Amino acid sequence: MTTHDIAVIPGDGIGLEVTPAALEVAQAAGRRHGFGFGFTEYDWSCERYRREGAMMPPDGLERLRGHDAIFLGAVGAPGVPDHVSLWGLLIPIRRAFRQYVNLRPVRLFEGLDSPVRGRIDLVVVRENTEGEYSEIGGRMSRGFPEEMAVQQSVFTRAGVTRVLDYAFALAARRGGHLTSATKSNGIVHTMPFWDELVRERAAEHPGVRWDQEHIDALCAKLVLDPGRFDVIVGSNLFGDILSDLAAAVAGSIGIAPSANLNPEREFPSMFEPVHGSAPDIAGRGVADPIGAIWSAALMVEHLGHPQAAEEMVAAIAAVLAKGDVRTRDLGGTAGTEEFTQAVLSHL
Ligand code: ATP
Ligand code: MG
Repeated sequence: MTTHDIAVIPGDGIGLEVTPAALEVAQAAGRRHGFGFGFTEYDWSCERYRREGAMMPPDGLERLRGHDAIFLGAVGAPGVPDHVSLWGLLIPIRRAFRQYVNLRPVRLFEGLDSPVRGRIDLVVVRENTEGEYSEIGGRMSRGFPEEMAVQQSVFTRAGVTRVLDYAFALAARRGGHLTSATKSNGIVHTMPFWDELVRERAAEHPGVRWDQEHIDALCAKLVLDPGRFDVIVGSNLFGDILSDLAAAVAGSIGIAPSANLNPEREFPSMFEPVHGSAPDIAGRGVADPIGAIWSAALMVEHLGHPQAAEEMVAAIAAVLAKGDVRTRDLGGTAGTEEFTQAVLSHL
C-alpha cells in the first residue's frame, strides 16, 4: 500500500476543527483506493507566536521539505496582525517550495443558494510569487505636501510563462477554454507584457480556446454570466480578487478550497481552505468543513489519485443535494462533526 507522508498544520481557530474532518475523509477515500497517509502534526500557529514569539521554529522549512504535501487549516488570531501569519509562515512556505500556482476551484453545488444565476464550475489560477505583491517601492516626503508612495510590480518572462503553461494545460484537461485577466488598457507596461506572453503560450497549446478580459469587465461577467468561464488565469492581485469574488458567488467562504502548487514536484505543495481562523465561531464545533475537505481532495489528486479525489467532492455534492445535513453558514443546523459523518457515509 502506498503511504503518503503529510505535514499537518492545523493552525488556529476553526483550523483546529476542520483539519481533522478533512483528513478523516481523505483517509476514508484512501482506504477504498488502496493508499494511506502518515500524518506529522506541527503546532505552528498564532498561538505559538504568542507563546514563543515565532509562528514556526527556525528550522521549520527544513522540517517540511521532506514531506509529500502540507495540509494547513487556518492561521490567524485576534490581536495578532495579519502580516505575522503571512510573513511568518505562509509566504516563506510558498516561496521556499516554489509554489507558484495558487489554484482555486469554484463550483455552485446543487441545492445551494447563490446571488447569481446559472452553472458555475470554474478554476481560478492565480500567480502566487510575483506581480503586484512586491516589496519594491517606498514612501517619500512624509508629512510634506508632495508626500507620495510608490509600489512597483514585477512580472518576469519565466514567472508568467510557467503559470500560463500550467493554466493552459489545466484548461486542456478540463473544458478546453481559458480566459486571461488583464488590464492592458490602463496598465501600460506589465499588462501588455502579460498579454504578449499569453499569445505566445497559446500558440503552444493549440487545443485550448482562449480569450482575455479586462479585470473590471471580467468581474462584472463573473456575476452576470459565470457559466461562460472554465479556467481563468490572472496575476497575483487579479487572481486574488477573482477567487474571492468567485467563491462568494458560489455560496459561502466556508466551502472554498485552495492549493499552492509546485507543479514540478521538486518540493511539497500546500493545501488549505480559503477561509481564515474565524475567531467568531471557533471552538463551538459549528464550522463548515467543506473548504477543508475539498482542499484535502485537491491534495489527494495531486498525490496521484484523481478518482479518489473526485469521489470526495462527489460525496460533498451528494450531501448538499440531499439537503438535510448542512452547517449554519449554508442555512442548516448541523455541526462540523455531523456534516463530516454525512460525507463519510456517502463515501
Ligand atoms: P483571518 O484573519 O484568519 O483571515 P477572518 O475573520 O478575517 O479571519 P474568516 O476566518 O475567513 O476571516 O471569516 C470570515 C467570516 O466567515 C466569519 O464571520 C466567519 O465566521 C465566517 N466563516 C469562515 N469560514 C467559515 C467556515 N468554515 N464555516 C462557517 N463560517 C465560516
Ligand atoms: Mg482575514
